[in-house]
Amino acid sequence: MSNAPVLVLGSGLAGWTVIKEFRKHDTHTPVMLVTSGSGDAYPKPALSTAFAQNKLPAQLRNSVASEQAVALNLQLQAHTRATSLDLAKQQLHTDQGAFEYSRLVLAHGADPIRIPLQGDAADTVMSVNQLHDYQLLRDKLQAGARVLIMGAGLIGCEFANDLGRAGFHVQVADPASRALSALLPEAASLQLQQALSALGVAWHFNDSVARVNHHGGALQATLASGQTVDCDLVLSAIGLRPQTAWLKDAGLSCDKGILVNHLLQTSDPHVYALGDVAQYASADNRLLPYVMPIMTAARALGATLSGTPTNVVFPVMPVAVKSPELPLLLALPVPGSAGEWHSAEKDVWKFMTASGECQGFVLAGKQTAQRAKALQWLSPQ
Ligand SMILES: Cc1cc2nc3c(=O)[nH]c(=O)nc-3n(C[C@H](O)[C@H](O)[C@H](O)COP(=O)(O)OP(=O)(O)OC[C@H]3O[C@@H](n4cnc5c(N)ncnc54)[C@H](O)[C@@H]3O)c2cc1C
Repeated sequence: MSNAPVLVLGSGLAGWTVIKEFRKHDTHTPVMLVTSGSGDAYPKPALSTAFAQNKLPAQLRNSVASEQAVALNLQLQAHTRATSLDLAKQQLHTDQGAFEYSRLVLAHGADPIRIPLQGDAADTVMSVNQLHDYQLLRDKLQAGARVLIMGAGLIGCEFANDLGRAGFHVQVADPASRALSALLPEAASLQLQQALSALGVAWHFNDSVARVNHHGGALQATLASGQTVDCDLVLSAIGLRPQTAWLKDAGLSCDKGILVNHLLQTSDPHVYALGDVAQYASADNRLLPYVMPIMTAARALGATLSGTPTNVVFPVMPVAVKSPELPLLLALPVPGSAGEWHSAEKDVWKFMTASGECQGFVLAGKQTAQRAKALQWLSPQ
């Protein structure tokens, strides 16, 4: 087993970054990258801002996998899907055969959540979570098309803004009563809604898509309320779910994601995980499906894999909502924290506990430039 490589599964930000971090410490240990796609790297956050800038998918690609493989001295196994894992034999099984590993890093991300929909066009509903999805979106949308977005969360609102700016007619349906209801104080939600409404976005709150049918050469969605929406495309943005079923069968401990300890080690000592697929002990057992946690986790894991066990310590990591009509910057309290949102000044909200501690903030519009100052408001958690 000594010649078996460090095997990394997945060529998203998590997979590539952990390899780069590992190579800073160790240039010679064999590394293999197994991935279901081509392995070419691109910045995923750009997917929800690219249409308005008329960016082609090829323009989003920032490196070619085969070139990176040479630069990082790794064996690339692209277009290969992992199907099962044999922990005892330290083998990853794929549709291209089995691969041995000395250490395995699971960085295979999360898949869009699909809810069962009725109707003869339910299978046309799409999500954008990979570069090729964005290509598909561009292929499907003709100028002036009508788009119905399922979900007024972070990704749904970003797409509403981007597609609205690109000249499409956008409607958004969400069972909640307002935009980004899980993240924002009510007044901030309303401000975002108004900004996007001014762009032409129409909202269907307290409602959800139940049925999608072909209708007169286009589509017709029927909402749970019975209201119908004529459109050309339904885009689902209702969240992502880590792919864990096949790993649970292998005996790895999973909950919402793959459970990892402070060293990013799973319940098997030879297997590690990070990125959208991981559920972190170092973050109160939360999923952290964002860029900054991946960079932090990859740095720690690169050192650990090279022989220097390094606990991951996540700093406060504000998240930007890329909605140019009203940019937002959020630092959220730990879920379940007792406290309330207070408006501190125009376009600034603080999450305050009863004892007067600030545990989160939302900055809107021009106030997003106050990031450094706002970080100082936060009490240690
Ligand atoms: C539209 C959009 C906008 C976003 N905007 C922001 C933002 O502004 N800021 C921010 O912080 N975060 C943002 N995010 C989240 C951020 O992009 C993700 O957290 C991050 O890219 C996830 O990286 P990952 O490597 O964990 O997963 P992924 O990028 O999903 O990579 C997973 C990789 O695993 C491969 N794979 C999957 N299953 C298998 C299998 N069974 N076998 C082999 N290979 C497999 C895939 O091909 C892929 O290469 C956004 C996400 C989306 C979708």
